[in-house]
Amino acid sequence: MPDTTYSKYLLSEDEIPKAWYNIMADMPNPPAPVLHPGTGQPVTPDDLAPLFPMSLILQEVSTERYIEIPQPIRQIYAQWRPSPLFRARRLEKALDTPARIYYKYEGVSPVGSHKANTAVAQVFYNKEAGIKKLSTETGAGQWGSALSMAGAFFDVEVEVFMVKVSYQQKPYRRNLMQTFGATVHASPTNLTDAGRSILEKDPQNMGSLGIAISEAVEVAAKSGGTTKYSLGSVLNHVLLHQTVIGQEALLQLEKADDYPDVVIGCVGGGSNMAGLAFPFMGEALRKGLRTRFLAAEPMSCPSLTKGIYAYDFGDTVGMTPLVKMHTLGHDFMPPGIHAGGLRYHGMSPLISQLHEEGIIDARAYHQNAVFAAATTFTRAEGIIPAPEAAHAIRAAIDEALEAKEAGEERVILFNLSGHGYFDMLAYENYFAGNLQDYEYPADAVAAAQQRLPQIV
Ligand SMILES: *Cc1c(COP(=O)(O)O)cnc(C)c1O
Repeated sequence: MPDTTYSKYLLSEDEIPKAWYNIMADMPNPPAPVLHPGTGQPVTPDDLAPLFPMSLILQEVSTERYIEIPQPIRQIYAQWRPSPLFRARRLEKALDTPARIYYKYEGVSPVGSHKANTAVAQVFYNKEAGIKKLSTETGAGQWGSALSMAGAFFDVEVEVFMVKVSYQQKPYRRNLMQTFGATVHASPTNLTDAGRSILEKDPQNMGSLGIAISEAVEVAAKSGGTTKYSLGSVLNHVLLHQTVIGQEALLQLEKADDYPDVVIGCVGGGSNMAGLAFPFMGEALRKGLRTRFLAAEPMSCPSLTKGIYAYDFGDTVGMTPLVKMHTLGHDFMPPGIHAGGLRYHGMSPLISQLHEEGIIDARAYHQNAVFAAATTFTRAEGIIPAPEAAHAIRAAIDEALEAKEAGEERVILFNLSGHGYFDMLAYENYFAGNLQDYEYPADAVAAAQQRLPQIV
């Protein structure tokens, strides 16, 4: 019987997971290989060595079920972990639903999102390998601030290429990174060949995550080994680091004497959804449970629901290895009218494959419906969600309303990946009626397919 009193489930510091959970140990099929862009052959760890320290490369390809979390990382995690799991009792009441809704709240990290979980791990392993500097990209600024914080903790320099439109519209995230001591550029810049090649064709280019990744990768690749590159989502080792979220949630739901029928996360590159869902998915795959997994994405950047499952570059210019994923095409330019993050052309290869195999379901939402859900949630639960996380809330509310319709006691778990206190401009625009619903056109997806790299 589910517990009927409590609304908040906390764990003690020694219940912070001691290992990350690796879904590759339990997937029905092995992951598709990552290919070298020049040869079309599977990449070797040595091919990736200019960009990442060997410890992270080995995690990227590991099939061990559990990978131990070094003590210094757990010690830093302890500042905000274990994060709380809430039962959204007032939201349930507001929706008048028989569903039980739980959310794991990752906005309690100092930078306000789950991104800190992998930032700390990545900087730790780079520091251990003697790396002095990391280059990275950031869209809305969440990842850049997380890596900048971790850089400050370990005394590793951080250089951030921030998508120009966000650099101009979101000064406070930029200021936060600078406060942590990072250097922040508006991308595309004229500091890299990649940036210059974009600006030559289009001097007014406002940037994209794909372009910023090209710039950050180039800085690391040309550094002669002093600088490595760091990515905040998409890659297997990033998803791995986020699994502390789901492992804690498993324990917390045990205390609540409950178990989810559906586990929901918003997806940009896939890391917060994977972080919550993979530990439950592993259990479902091993025990034959029928837990559903639902990825929520924006209509304006619908990689999973409309993208093509194919080999593509992770960046715009074409410098990264080729990964098999759902993609809108590496030259995708996000529509400027969209408020939230979640604007990457690709998707985590692990999430993509699990979607292709029918294990993860996906739905796309318009932004006005997403902000309506965020507002309902805030009025019931008090927390302003990040616009990205609000996609998961939309999906969770829809599930709860379906359960009401069906008269079903559905148990819903979603990841509240971050707070939205730096995103109040988006809320202001929503209340002013200035957000447009925009559906990424099918012919743009078809056209992008023509420009995908040819695999021989
Ligand atoms: C970056 C970010 C996302 C999207 O990235 P994922 O890798 O898909 O999790 C979602 N929510 C928040 C709060 C973020 O900062």
